[in-house]
Amino acid sequence: MTRDARCCQRTKKISCHCECANLPDANVKEAGNPGRLPNWEKSLRGQYHMGMRFSAKSIAVLTVLLAFASVTPRSRAQVPPSSQQSEVPPAQLDHRLHLFHIHTGERLDIVFRHGDSFIPAATAKLDYFLRDHRTGEVRHFDPHIYDILEELTHAAGHPDGEIDIVCGYRTEWSNEFLRARTAGVAKNSLHLRAEAIDLRMPGVDTYHLREAALSLQGGGVGYYPHSDFIHVDVGRVRQWCFNCGSALHKTGD
Ligand SMILES: [Zn+2]
Repeated sequence: MTRDARCCQRTKKISCHCECANLPDANVKEAGNPGRLPNWEKSLRGQYHMGMRFSAKSIAVLTVLLAFASVTPRSRAQVPPSSQQSEVPPAQLDHRLHLFHIHTGERLDIVFRHGDSFIPAATAKLDYFLRDHRTGEVRHFDPHIYDILEELTHAAGHPDGEIDIVCGYRTEWSNEFLRARTAGVAKNSLHLRAEAIDLRMPGVDTYHLREAALSLQGGGVGYYPHSDFIHVDVGRVRQWCFNCGSALHKTGD
C-alpha cells in the first residue's frame, strides 16, 4: 500500500490537500617552514640568518626564486584530481534537486544553479515540472524556493535525497477547486504566485521534515499531518499547522 493510499485510509475521506483522490494508487607553502624546504634552500636561509648580508633587492629576488621553486610543474601534477576539486569554492558548486511528482508520475534530476547563478534552462524545466497538474498551465517559479528545497534535504539528513512533490503551481481555478472540496486551502495561497510547494520526503518522518524546514528560516512552513506533507514557500517566515491537535507535541524518537 502506498503512503498516499494510507493517507486516504487514515483520513477516511477524499481530501484535496491530501489529494488522494487524484492518485491512481497512490581547496602556498608557508614561507620560512624549514622542515619542508629542500637542503639548498635551507642552506641559503641558514646563511642569511647567521649574519650574511644581502641587499633588499637580492632578498626580493631570492624570495621570488624560492617561491617559484616550491611550486614546480611536477608538484602541481602530483595533486590528485580529488584534491583539486576540493579547492573549488562552495559558491562555485553545482546545486541539484531530485524530484518526483506524485500526480504526474514524472521524475526530475536537475542542476538548477551553478555557483551564484541560476540556470535558465533548468528553471524552465522546473517551471514545467511544477505546473498546475490539473490544468497543465505553467508559471515561472521564484527560483529561491529551489534553494530551500536543496537545503531542506541537507537539514533533514538526506542530502540530495528525492523529494515527492504533492503540489506546485495552482491556477485560480485549481485553487478554488481545492477550496470547494477541502479545508486548509487559503484563498490567496502563495501557490497561485508560484512561490509555494507542498512536499514530503520518502524515508523522512514528515514531522521531522517540518522541524528541518523550520530550522532553515527561509519562509513559511505549514504542516499537514493528516495528509502527510509540509508546505514551504518564499514568503515571510511563519508557520502553521492544520488540524494538528496534539501532533505538534509528538513524543518518542
Ligand atoms: Zn501548500
